[in-house]
Amino acid sequence: MEFLNQFQFIRTQPLNRTSATHCCDCNEPIPELRRKTLTGVQRCVDCQSILEITA
Ligand SMILES: [Zn+2]
Repeated sequence: MEFLNQFQFIRTQPLNRTSATHCCDCNEPIPELRRKTLTGVQRCVDCQSILEITA
């Protein structure tokens, strides 16, 4: 179910496409590479993975 996975990934992304400098959940700094790779990212790797597992 490749399509469903992609849909869920997009749904977890915010509407504004500006990457946050700090995680919106735990306030940890988000690495520059991650911010550039995932445009609009709002969470660090740890919080994002938790979100994707529990979503
Ligand atoms: Zn975090």
